Order: sequence, then C-alpha cells, then structure tokens
Amino acid sequence: MKPFAYTRVATTAAAIDAIQAPGAKVLGGGTNLVDLMREHIEQPDALVDVTALPFTKIHEREDGGVTIGAGVRNTAVAAHPAIRDRYPVLSEAILNGASGQIRNMATVGGNLMQRTRCLYFYDQAARCNKRQPGSGCDAIGGVTRMHAILGASESCIATHPSDMCVALAALDATVAVSGPHGERRIPFTEFHRLPGETPHIETALERGELITAVELPPLAWAKHSRYRKVRDRSSYAFALVSVAAAVRTDGDRIGEVRVALGGVAHRPWRAFEAERQLQGAPLTRERLQFAADAELAAARTFPHNHFKVELARRTIVSVLAELCGLGGER
Ligand code: SF4
Repeated sequence: MKPFAYTRVATTAAAIDAIQAPGAKVLGGGTNLVDLMREHIEQPDALVDVTALPFTKIHEREDGGVTIGAGVRNTAVAAHPAIRDRYPVLSEAILNGASGQIRNMATVGGNLMQRTRCLYFYDQAARCNKRQPGSGCDAIGGVTRMHAILGASESCIATHPSDMCVALAALDATVAVSGPHGERRIPFTEFHRLPGETPHIETALERGELITAVELPPLAWAKHSRYRKVRDRSSYAFALVSVAAAVRTDGDRIGEVRVALGGVAHRPWRAFEAERQLQGAPLTRERLQFAADAELAAARTFPHNHFKVELARRTIVSVLAELCGLGGER
C-alpha cells in the first residue's frame, strides 16, 4: 500500500479544509475505501478521518421527517424504531446489504460514496475508464452478468452496488453537504451520476464538499413500503436486481407510488416512467405489468445480462402486487 498521511478532524471546518488538498480522501468506516487501497485502486496521499465529527445522531424532525447524520453506522439506521416503523423499506434494504460486521462499521456517508464492484474496475490488468479515464472498458465485450441494463454508456456499463441508496432514491431523500462555499442540499436522485463520457465522476459533490446528513421527507404512507433483493447467494452478495417500493392505495386505485431499482444502472434507478403509468391507475396485476414494461422499454442488454430485464419486470410486479394486496410471488 502506498504511504499516506492520516488526520482525524474534530470540526466540519477542519474537515472541509483538509479534504480540499489534492489527493485527500474522506475516511468513515473504511469498509470500501480501505479495500480499494489494498488493491491499489485508490492511492490517496492523505486520509481525513471524519468519525469524530458530530454527525452520529438520528433526529426525528417536527415536520415528521427524519434526519440521519452522515456518520451514523448502517446497523444503527436499520435498527432505529422510527426507521423500522415509518420507513421499513430503508431498514430492509440495509439489512440486505453486506454482512453484520460490515454494517456495524459502515457509515451512511460512506455508503453513498461506495464504488462499483465491476470486476474489471478491480483488475489492474484490465482497461477501465472509471479507474483510468480514456483507457477503454474491458467489461464491454467481457463478462457482463452483473452489469447495467439502464442508463449505461459507451464508456462504462457498471452498476452501483448499494442497497441502502436504492431505498433512499425511492423515498425522495435529500443529501445535505457542507463545503468551502457553504451548505447545500442535493435531491437524492441527482446525487449519483450516470456514466456518460466521464464515468470517473460519480456524484454531484464538488471538491471540498462533505456529506453531513441524509434527510428523509415526511411521508406517512412510506410505512407501507418494501425492499426485495434478488442475488446469487442469500447473504453477502450484490444485487442482480433489487426493488424498493412504497404505495398508497386509494380504494381500487393506486394513489401514490414510488419505485426504485438496484443492480441495473450506474446509479440507484428511480423508476419514474413506471410511477407515471401507475399514478391513479386501477389496482390490477395487468397494470403493474404494463408499468414495469414501460420502465424497462429503454433497457439495453449485453451478452450475459439479458435475464435482468425479465427478472426486473417480475420483481417490480411482485413487490408492487404485495404492497397493493394483490398477492406477491408469481
Ligand atoms: Fe471500468 Fe465501468 Fe468498464 Fe467496469 S464497466 S471496466 S467500471 S469503465
């Protein structure tokens, strides 16, 4: 591992100052970054440890929403009574990710910043535009079972690995950040980027900006939400496809609905087209299938991941059918 400097900061101002230095990286739980350093994928000059900053609380706001500090460990989020009761999709998503030991270490901010598990990204002998911009992409034409079917580009077809972020996309969360120019809030669906021609730029964060919290909006009907993950093993595996959804029914119609997909795109994929097809629609399985097909009409597959389209379609329909009282599995 390349030698690096280590600083543990005690204030947000000190953190922002330190992370503006070229080659500096933020260290939270280290569950992804340290792995990447061991593999020589990340080679920072300095690590700025932010675990002493006062972002380790979950706060139930008066407006009915919840603010989760960026330094809160994933396990604590999943176990918090307000999250389990009012946003079960988030608790379920977290518990479907990684292992108990990793969830105990991993922070909310770090979860947002984790990088793809594309095997070619980890392989120094492979060409990878994300690791080395302009070098090419050996995943295209390679083994593509885990790769994207939506929103990919000629430069990169990687997927985002997080489960938690899929739930946050469905919930319309907001990312609070502090930086050299003050504080700002970024809608969750705009936080992660599609690859385009610059897959190495993965988020909307500017240099020197630090995630301080994730804010969940007041959403009474999010109580009626689910996360389902389909994967090769029953634990400690990334999603082939996952679905986060929340539904408010209105008699025999769908009142409001939120759907996001994991394992299919470079970012947690909010299924806006499916939602548009479902808003106010009759509560039937046929309508759910129609909406899933509408969302997946833009899918572009590669030699080993054709199956993801049908898998995504069936998982969307099954999760929504369960939430709508139409029976889940088929
Ligand atoms: Fe790199 Fe993206 Fe290609 Fe994977 S898919 S090799 S991360 S450029």
